[in-house]
Amino acid sequence: MIFRQMFERESSTYTYLVGSEGEAALIDPVREEVPRYLQLLSELGLRLVVAIDTHVHADHVTGLGELRAQTGCVTVMGERAGSDCVTRKVRDGEVIAVGALRLTALATPGHTDDSMSYLMGDRVFTGDTLLIRSTGRTDFQNGDPEAQYESLFERLLRLPEATAVYPGHDYKGWTVSSIGEERAHNPRLKATTPEAYVAQMRALKLPNPKLMDIAVPANLACGRV
Ligand code: FE
Repeated sequence: MIFRQMFERESSTYTYLVGSEGEAALIDPVREEVPRYLQLLSELGLRLVVAIDTHVHADHVTGLGELRAQTGCVTVMGERAGSDCVTRKVRDGEVIAVGALRLTALATPGHTDDSMSYLMGDRVFTGDTLLIRSTGRTDFQNGDPEAQYESLFERLLRLPEATAVYPGHDYKGWTVSSIGEERAHNPRLKATTPEAYVAQMRALKLPNPKLMDIAVPANLACGRV
């Protein structure tokens, strides 16, 4: 298996490349980085078969549309994404094949209503649902702290403790964690009732992301505006 974690500095976004048997998937690609992804794919001898957004992003413009135009790959988002430009919308439990790899979609709403995580063997791509020592904000794009509580405690934290956690962002330089580590040390997960979790998230009062007014409408069109 080929596995790469790539970082986009402007929005502190992680993009993942996974490959097997000559095929590849990109998870959460950033539009400005598309030339770099295409170069890497070619250097590694991989054909991009699928590009996935874990959710409609508010902080960067997606590379999905550009990648589809350049490679003919399938573009994937969750079934609740309000986007009509993706070629495949997945629901909870659906499986995406990439060579010998299997990515299982897990519906994990809360950060946004369309947020999905993807489980691939002993690792999970958590988008902005579970971050390293944090969780994704829930105060816009139909975010819902109660739904996020369910997604965290009833879905992600029920995965085996050793499952590696690969988030959609990190602002402090962390690259990977595990379900067990987050359960033990993530301060947001100390709120173990829905009420306490909701109160904690409502108290955050964060500024809107710089690119939000540009990124959300652009991303609903797969970044091609
Ligand atoms: Fe996000």
